[in-house]
This record gives sequence, C-alpha cells and structure tokens, in this order.
Amino acid sequence: MKLNLSFSEFFIRVKGLKVIGNWSANVDQVVYDSRKVSSAEGQVFFALQGDFRNGHDFIEDAYEKGIRLFVIEDLGEVRPDACYVVVENCLKSLQELAKTHRESFNIPVLAITGSTGKTTVKEWVYHLLKGQLHITRSPKSYNSQLGVALSLLMITEETQLAIIEAGISKPGEMELLREMIQPTLGIFTNIGSAHRENFENAEQHLSEKLSLFNKVSVLFSLQKLENHDLSEKTHVLDRKDLEPYLKTLPFSDEASYQSALLATGFVKYKFRIDNDKINSLPRLALRLETFDGIDNSLIINDTYNLDLDSLKIALEYQLSIAKDNTRIAIIGLDKDNQGLKKQVVEVLQGFHPIQIFFCHEGFNTSDMAINSAIVLVKGQRAQQMEKIAQKLKLKHHKTQLAFNLSAVKNNLSIFKNKLSAGTKLLCMVKAQSYGAGLEKMGAFLEKCGVDYLGVAYSDEGVELRMAGIKLPIIVMNPEEDGYENCVLYNLEPTVYSQTQLEELIKEMIYLGKERLPIHLKIDTGMHRLGISPNELSEVLEVIQAQPEVEIKGVYSHLAEAENTSSKAFTEGQITTFSGCVEQVLNKYPDIIVHLCNSEGALNFPEAHFNMVRVGIGLYGISKNPSFAALLKPVVEWKSVVSQVKEISPGDSVGYGRSFIAEENLKIAVIPVGYADGIPRNLSNGKGAVFIHQQRCATVGRVCMDMIMVNVTHLRVEEGDRVEIIGSHQTLEQLAHDMGTIPYEVLTGLSKRVYRTYFEE
Ligand SMILES: *Cc1c(COP(=O)(O)O)cnc(C)c1O
Repeated sequence: MKLNLSFSEFFIRVKGLKVIGNWSANVDQVVYDSRKVSSAEGQVFFALQGDFRNGHDFIEDAYEKGIRLFVIEDLGEVRPDACYVVVENCLKSLQELAKTHRESFNIPVLAITGSTGKTTVKEWVYHLLKGQLHITRSPKSYNSQLGVALSLLMITEETQLAIIEAGISKPGEMELLREMIQPTLGIFTNIGSAHRENFENAEQHLSEKLSLFNKVSVLFSLQKLENHDLSEKTHVLDRKDLEPYLKTLPFSDEASYQSALLATGFVKYKFRIDNDKINSLPRLALRLETFDGIDNSLIINDTYNLDLDSLKIALEYQLSIAKDNTRIAIIGLDKDNQGLKKQVVEVLQGFHPIQIFFCHEGFNTSDMAINSAIVLVKGQRAQQMEKIAQKLKLKHHKTQLAFNLSAVKNNLSIFKNKLSAGTKLLCMVKAQSYGAGLEKMGAFLEKCGVDYLGVAYSDEGVELRMAGIKLPIIVMNPEEDGYENCVLYNLEPTVYSQTQLEELIKEMIYLGKERLPIHLKIDTGMHRLGISPNELSEVLEVIQAQPEVEIKGVYSHLAEAENTSSKAFTEGQITTFSGCVEQVLNKYPDIIVHLCNSEGALNFPEAHFNMVRVGIGLYGISKNPSFAALLKPVVEWKSVVSQVKEISPGDSVGYGRSFIAEENLKIAVIPVGYADGIPRNLSNGKGAVFIHQQRCATVGRVCMDMIMVNVTHLRVEEGDRVEIIGSHQTLEQLAHDMGTIPYEVLTGLSKRVYRTYFEE
C-alpha cells in the first residue's frame, strides 16, 4: 500500500474534525493492528472501535513501535511529537479513505459475492489472468466492512483489474460495501441458505446481496435471476462450457465445478483464456467450513490438519467475524507432541483473548460456555476433530423451546434494583429451573452474580455441583437418603420439623460431620412443611446442644404474596415471622433471614429481611401490572407445520371423531402433543397456535405427539413456522386457556422438547 497522500488531502478524505499536533510528511500506509506495525515511513494508525478490541487501547503500543500519526475518536494522552486526527468514527473514516482511493482509479473492478465459493472464484480468476494483467485482489477472505476497505487501499497505479470479495452478515451492510467498491463487473457465486439469522427471510437476504451489482455492466451467475432488475444484464453460465475440460480438471467435487464455471466464464467473456491454466487451477486449501452451532454459536470447522500457517489464517478469519463475541479454539493435538503444542500456544497467544481447549485433556464439549461464541475447531487428522465439530452443530429440531437469557438478565436486574444494599438474591432453580434446564440456568445465574440457588431435592443440588456450580445451595425438601449428599456436595438442607432434625443429626454423627449449615423453615400460615412458631424454642435448644449442625439461615414462605388488594393475611405472616426471627437472632445474630418469593419481593419491600427467593419472576411473570410491564418474557415455544390438508363437509378429524366438519376446511398438523406439554383440555378450539401472526384454533383432540389446527383462511405451507408461546400467545395466555398458571405450564414442558438458549 502506498497511498502517497499529502496530509491535507488525507485529512479531507477521512473527514477529519480536528487535528492535534502537526504533520507535514505524506501519508502512505494504514495500520490498525499495533502488532503489525512495521518500520516503514508514512504509517497512520486507525484506532478502530467496536471490533473485538478497542484500538484506542493500543495507541500506546503503536507509539512505542514508532507510529506518530493517529486517527482517533477519543483523545487520550497527547504526545508532543505525535499528531492526532479526530474523527467521528474511525471505521467510517477508513471506509471513506478506501472509497475515495478507489474513485481515483478508472479501472475495471470485479466484485464477488454469494454464500460460498467467493474466495475460490477470486483466486481462480486471478490464476487465469495473472500473466495478462496486473491484478490487485482482496487478500485471503477479506470481505467484511474492514476487509473490503483494506483490499481497496491496495489498488495502485499499476493495477489493471481489481478483484474484491464482499460478504455481509447484517441487513444494510451491502450498501456500504457497494459505495466503497463501486464495482463495474460482478460474479454472484450462489444463494445458499442464509448463513446467520439476521435477515428476515431468504428473499431479503438475496436482494440485499444482489444490490452490490446495481451498477455493474455485466453480472455472471449460475442461475437466472428471475423477476429481478439485474436479470437483463446477467450472463448465466452454462455447464456445457466446462465439458471440454471435464476429463482433465484437477478436481471432481460439485462446489469446485461451480467455482471453475464462474471463473472461466468470466475470463472468457472479457479476456483471452489459456486452456493450460484451466487444467492447472490450484486446489485451494479452503477448509474453513462455517455452520450454525448449538446455543447460537458459530462453528468454524477446519479439521483437516494443524500446520501453523493454516492455524493463523483460521484465527484471523475467526477474529474477523467475531465482533464482540467470545472466541474459543478447540485444538486436537497428539499429546506427546509437546514441541508443536508450544508453537500452537504461541500462535494462539497472538489472538488473545481467546479460550483455548486442547482436546486430549479429557475434553468434554459441555465444559464450555459456548453461548454465542465463535468456535474454531482445528486439529491433526488423527485426532478426529470432525466428531467434535459435528457434536457442536445445531440440530434442526422442529419443535424448540428457546430461552432468552438476556431477558432473564433484565428480570434479575429489576429484582436487584428493588433490594437495598446488602440484601441477597437467591434464585429458585427447582424443577429443572422451572423447565428451563437446571445446569444451564444454574451456570447462567452464577455468571450473573446471584448469591444463592435453591432446589427442592438434594439430587438437583448434586447435579448443579457436577456442572461445576460453586454458589451456596439451599435444599428445600431434603430427604433422608440425601443427607449424605448434602455433606459430600456442600449443600445446605432445610430443617422443617423436630423429627427430621433428629434424623439429620443422627446421620451427621454417623458420618462424623460437624457444623453442617442448615436453614430453619418456619410455618407462618402456609401450612405446608415448617416448624410451628410454638415449637421453635425447643428446636433451637436441640441445635444449641448438638455440634453436628449450625444455623445458617431462617425462612418462611408466603401464601398469597400476589394479592395486593387485601394484604392482611400476608402482613400477619410477616408479623409472625418477625417474632420468630427475633427469637433466633437472639442466639444467632449473623444468619440469613428470608421470606419473600418473587411476588413478595415486588409487593412487600418491607419484608425483604436480608435475602429474597426469586423463581417465576425470572421468567417475566408477575400479577402486578406495574412490574409485569418491566419484566421481559423469556420463553418462546416454536414448531413448524408438518402437513397441510383439505377437509370436506362430513369428514372427521382426530381420535374419537370428536370433530366433524360442517364446511370445507384446511387444517395444518403440528408436531406437538400432550407428551410435549399441550394438555388434552386444549382440544377442539379451546387452544390455539399462531401461524403467520394469525390465531389458528385446534381441531379435534390433542394427540400424544400432534395437534391439528384450523388454517382455512391462511396461506400455509409445510415447514412454515408455528408459535405456541411467543409474542402473540403469551405464556400467561396459554396457561389461562389450559385453566392453570404459568408455573404448571413451564414445569409441564416435556423433557423431550429441545431447548436452546440465546442472548440478544
Ligand atoms: C418455589 C419457591 C419460591 C419461588 O417462588 P416464585 O413464586 O416462583 O418466586 C420461593 N420459596 C420457596 C420456598 C419455594 O418453594
């Protein structure tokens, strides 16, 4: 890159707002990664933000390495011998620079986009033409907002053809790329399936991609672009054109044929073609297969080998698409090869921060916090890393429960804001965390910084410990068989009666355990498990005499905390509890005291004591409208239409022929039934799902694995999305139709329904 710009020209091109310091030399070369600063003159450092790193943090480093000219957004320390150009947005400025640079050359610019094969086509066009023309092309697969800008800046006076790859991941990005590239020629490799979910639908994705070519003179494609403005100038390539070469081509896979067809088609149309070169198209080491992974992750599967160069390329690629997402590298390496391991670690360290897993160290994919991460899977052939990659691949389950962890976080903060400083937050994760998944939610809540977890049975506590969760855990209903596990797994059992206390103490004597932390549960009016207030002093005396147990907390449970119109009963419970607490605190002043569940925490701030126990509220549910408005729904239950069929008058639908059609109907079959958690009382119109935002009521009885719904007035096809719980049918609404409460709906969601988790 030799831009050869005077400083004043540079300042105009990057849309500088002001200059701090003086600069008289020319500006020649852009750097944005302080690790890649060379000793050349005329380098300018762009402090790019919003990428994985914040370039402003590396200004010092770049300065140490000799850079004196900086393009920045926020002014930090000013060095007397450096010059700072302040701009609004460093990436935008770099793009402006690239755009004006591109405009200063009147040369053909070929843009390539599509879902796959872009880099191969680009390299092959280059291969076929390199003897005839001086070509500048995007390095590697530099096709992002930054990569395209850097590619364009490589154009020089000598360039006769520029080949630029363009890739997008979000709506609106292609327009920016087009304005920079201003292509005169285009190649569209293929449509493919949408790579990420950021686009509303396939059409939107396609038309956005094609907008790159709005102003080209010719577009090369493998398929007709019917009903599209570009169709007139599209040159559709014909497979027959490759036939003369079929026998001698150095590959035989379909993807390579398609790339060869595009590259040769383009070259033949515009230039001379050299047959020998077609037969020597280089096999590119393009092994970076990318696919959607579990938990909203993206998997880069490069499980072919582990040479250091290809590792570097893969890591750069990962960095380029990671944005703010966590990066994880899973490396498969022969455990005896310490030499290679050392080198690999060195390369990986250059890409800090990145989580590194070596496969041979008892590796288990469930140990990773993979949510929304960009995961590179790479290793030596013999390590069979493709098995790991397959394990991480998102399986397309038709029926899915998706849990919005960002909404959980929001709801947690609503509760946290209600608490005074020092009041602890316990999250109830009993019953598989209200159906959301025990391990997953436990780990997430721990990461969010809650203070305690609560479970019903000790087995659930053991499961949490096995998953590596370190938070203190209260067990609400410990059973005799579980006492030993409380000791082994550091769980804190509840004591709810004198007999149970005595059994617990005997078991501790047997195990030789002292000072087991316990929580006393007082019955203040619920009349479920609990020590009655009049037994309390006797219980306290036993505890005081026995070294085996030690009180860590005292609690009770409210019976109608959601009732805000008549608070008398709850207030009575609060008074009774306060009396008991006083008795306990006299002897044990430093314990945890807790009474409120979710509704209690929201409606009775005066009764928080020093901890609250939140369950259903995490899922966005409250009967109090002013809190319900602040909480966000967490659960989405989705499926797809399995089949659509026409029904004539007199036809029956489903078991027992409980529904007989009176007119022509169209019904859709949805693969969810009572074994998934749709109860039979939603049969025959009592329940509904939403398809294309329209309510579609059930027809006939709910079956074990399926329901039928009425779609007579809708355009519905097999594979269309179905909402069971979501923005149209809320969890509360579904619970209401079932004649129950959200708790029962959530905990009744069958284990077989596939769960996914996402963060927004
Ligand atoms: C389930 C449970 C909670 C949580 O109740 P929510 O209404 O879901 O907030 C709190 N305390 C105890 C003892 C529970 O059993």
